[in-house]
Amino acid sequence: MSGEALQPIRGMSDIAAPDIQLWQHLERVARDILACYHFSEVRTPIVEYTSVFTRSLGEATDVVQKEMYTFEDRGGRSLTLRPEGTAGIMRYVANAGQDAQDARIFYIGPMFRAERPAAGRRRQFHQLGAECMGSPSPAADAEIIALQVHLLQAWGIKDFKLELNTRGLPDDHARVADGIRAALRPHRADLCDDCQRRFDENPLRIIDCKKSGCRAIVEQIPPVTEYMGTEARKYLQELMELLRQLEIPATANPYLVRGLDYYVHTVWEITHTGLGAQDALAGGGRYQMQMGRQTCEGVGFAIGLERILAVLQGQGVNGTDFARRPCVWLVSQGEAAFRENMLLMQSLRMRGIEASMDLSGRSMKAQMRAANKANSRFVVIRGEEEMERGTFQLKSMDSGTQEELELPEIMQRLIQERELS
Ligand code: AMP
Repeated sequence: MSGEALQPIRGMSDIAAPDIQLWQHLERVARDILACYHFSEVRTPIVEYTSVFTRSLGEATDVVQKEMYTFEDRGGRSLTLRPEGTAGIMRYVANAGQDAQDARIFYIGPMFRAERPAAGRRRQFHQLGAECMGSPSPAADAEIIALQVHLLQAWGIKDFKLELNTRGLPDDHARVADGIRAALRPHRADLCDDCQRRFDENPLRIIDCKKSGCRAIVEQIPPVTEYMGTEARKYLQELMELLRQLEIPATANPYLVRGLDYYVHTVWEITHTGLGAQDALAGGGRYQMQMGRQTCEGVGFAIGLERILAVLQGQGVNGTDFARRPCVWLVSQGEAAFRENMLLMQSLRMRGIEASMDLSGRSMKAQMRAANKANSRFVVIRGEEEMERGTFQLKSMDSGTQEELELPEIMQRLIQERELS
């Protein structure tokens, strides 16, 4: 294998200790909270037919035009690695029929976007998302925002900012696009190349352009909400009121549009100043998309887990804080003791106790070193003398105390320790 093949693809990473312990901690906390809100997990395939994404995300979005990993299968059908989670979940919902019409679903998993890798921007990254179907009320938006904020707080994320806006109803979309075009027409020549194209295709995307020249122009034109009907504005006001009641701090940002086309009514974003240029921690919105003959409507969010990790690590949190400590390390001298320890290790494990031992015939000294390195809480020593007496030494690695015990006592002590820890 060449050196290149040993590296993961640029913008993609292996996740191993100590980080994996933090990932697992975040997932454990999240699963408990999601259960309190009565959401259940759905795992959709990572690869879908390309049309699942192109139709719902919007042909003129950056994700569809530039960022999808798309390839043909052997039968010549176009497939795509999922760039986001909502479209696949809606495909599942449409397929599940009536039963899933008021589903409350969450997902955790990798997403793929062929973006230029940079700090905080990966080609494979992970999202935790939730989708709530079946209620057209702003109360559903408030509930799912409360869930998202609860997750961030439970993980210990400090100082994040929640901003909201409305994308209006489908009936508003043409009026909004015409309004933006009219306001931008005098500045058209000064827009970047991408925005020149967006001007005709989908002028809303210009509002989202990150280039400083385009941003300066966008700040001079009226916010998109100006072109929307009263229903959309009322919906946003009701939501803001509900969030106030729930004591969730939120700011209206009339320039927030978000990058995909499937949104109706609410869109929101949660940012964190500790993240630098890629400061979006999470986003969400209410959407409507066509899946086959069905229109799927819901409200949902996605949280970028790599960015959650980056914020937590910036706050001094480390994977090693969540590392599990082996309860006991079994040390043996001679073949007979080794075999008995193998049996003891298996019975401890069957009782839910984390037990380990060396399997490559190392000296007792080397076995003790390994127990120390693993930060084991206890060591059980079975030497030649203990074999003769039918006993074991139980040594606490924290206090250094040592006792000579028989097998039933050892088991009892370690089971007690497991219950106390
Ligand atoms: P989006 O679907 O673009 O709204 O993304 C939702 C969240 O996923 C963002 O707020 C980020 O935290 C995260 N995210 C999106 N794209 C990337 C990426 N390329 N690399 C890392 N995280 C990402």
